[in-house]
Amino acid sequence: MTEIDPTPSRPPPLPWEGGCRCGAVRLRVTKPPLLAGACHCSGCQRMSASAFSLTLTLPADGFELTAGEPVIGGTHHPQQHHFHCPRCKSWLFTRADGFDWFVNLRPTMLDDHGWFAPFVELWTSEQLPWAETRAPHRYERDPPLADWEPLMRAYAATTES
Ligand SMILES: [Zn+2]
Ligand SMILES: [Zn+2]
Repeated sequence: MTEIDPTPSRPPPLPWEGGCRCGAVRLRVTKPPLLAGACHCSGCQRMSASAFSLTLTLPADGFELTAGEPVIGGTHHPQQHHFHCPRCKSWLFTRADGFDWFVNLRPTMLDDHGWFAPFVELWTSEQLPWAETRAPHRYERDPPLADWEPLMRAYAATTES
């Protein structure tokens, strides 16, 4: 049996390269993330074909596409746009109307993502009982708006070198 070190490792130096499963879409991250999360909601369970989705919240000006043209897929929520690879249909990132200062990237798209660990988990009310992420902060649904900034500040403190 192997012991797992619960301490998330530090991210590698920026920039980070990534892309979809087939390689048609490639992307680059040039600024440090604002928050790392997991969402257990049933919508994310469907979209991710897994127990929960993973999110790395990035400043919008620190995220760029370097190849390919992602298409909108997923839910028809009017204010949320889920971008996918047009070819392999990987769920790449999400943008929200009125919140154009950040992008929610699925961190497993990064070529090197072994360092990723959720800092906050959402919608634990719909969590599969075995689907533990070890995130230090938990919410039964979405966090209240006032909690986002303190969460981001606390997350930044964990990633500063
Ligand atoms: Zn693809
Ligand atoms: Zn969700």
